[in-house]
Amino acid sequence: MSTKKINGNTLLVEKIKEFRILSINRKFKLDKIELDKPVSFWIKEDRLLSKKGKEFAIILRTKGCSWALGDYGGCSMCGYIQDSTIEKIDQIHIINQFNYAFEEKINEITSDEDDFIIKIYNSGSFFDDDEISVDVREHIFKKIADVPKIKEVVIESRVDYITNEKLNTMKSILKNKYIEVAIGLETVNDYIRNNYINKGLKFKDFLDAIHLCKKNEVGIRAYLLFKPPFINEQTAIDDCANSIQKLVELKINTISINPLNIQKNSLVEYLFYQNRYRPPWFYSLFKCFLKTCKNNDILKSVRIISSPSGAGTKRGIHNCLKRECNEIMITALKEFVLTQNINSLIINDSNSSCDCLLKYQLQKNFI
Ligand code: SF4
Ligand SMILES: [Zn+2]
Repeated sequence: MSTKKINGNTLLVEKIKEFRILSINRKFKLDKIELDKPVSFWIKEDRLLSKKGKEFAIILRTKGCSWALGDYGGCSMCGYIQDSTIEKIDQIHIINQFNYAFEEKINEITSDEDDFIIKIYNSGSFFDDDEISVDVREHIFKKIADVPKIKEVVIESRVDYITNEKLNTMKSILKNKYIEVAIGLETVNDYIRNNYINKGLKFKDFLDAIHLCKKNEVGIRAYLLFKPPFINEQTAIDDCANSIQKLVELKINTISINPLNIQKNSLVEYLFYQNRYRPPWFYSLFKCFLKTCKNNDILKSVRIISSPSGAGTKRGIHNCLKRECNEIMITALKEFVLTQNINSLIINDSNSSCDCLLKYQLQKNFI
């Protein structure tokens, strides 16, 4: 499943690489203490498979995403390389990072009345041996396997690194925990994915990865990017709604919608500064969800979630910049994710009276 020769947009690739190099050159070398701590970790409310629960998320610092560090420069909206070491990192640091977060939070997890989902992020691919070695992966799985409170496990990977053997090992150590492999599909549309996002991923390779996961009884979580660059609000709604429908047909277990947020030193940040990109409006996201989940039937077969970074700010999903206007939307979205009840997203005049809705309606086909 090679990602090479997929991207036809040479100009875009050159521009992305320009920003990537800038970003790499601006990076400071981290000392040993920093390398032994993860980028971040937290516990917060989340939707488990069939009820509310808590997530324990850890962002590990690795060498960085091979797609971003390679000849194609990575995805147009991504600035995750900021959190990476770029140079090869001794794997003991990754074990230390994981253990640090784990030890800090284990008491909180075991004493909480809720069940947990653990999400291991590494701003790249968990299954890429250049980022995380086989031994480190096994260490992580064994630690998780010992905690009964953790019911679900999510890791992220580009399809290139998902193999039968890796899934099999993961499954055999984690035994009866529910596993999801998260894949950044972004959209079911090959043209948007590879020409606007520069993802270097064909839909048919995603289908192969699904097949492999299903064969190993591992669930699939698909990430969709809400409002990639170069498309307007209305097209973003249509593209995302179309992607959700297709993924539901494919019996994907979880769909996680990521409204684009402006990340540092990404190509999209450059477009944003030039007023050629505006992060999505909440109104659009809600329309898309209401359109696809008109009744709650879809939500019986798939978990739909969204936890937008930078929500309510200029660089994240927002309506106007009034605090109350965005807070209503953030609260409604959170309620929808936790309850999987689409009615949570129906905002009417009694709970929102912001006049930016009119501005949105006038602009949605042009911005
Ligand atoms: S979005 Fe994912 S695949 Fe794309 S460059 Fe960033 S980390 Fe790599
Ligand atoms: Zn408003």
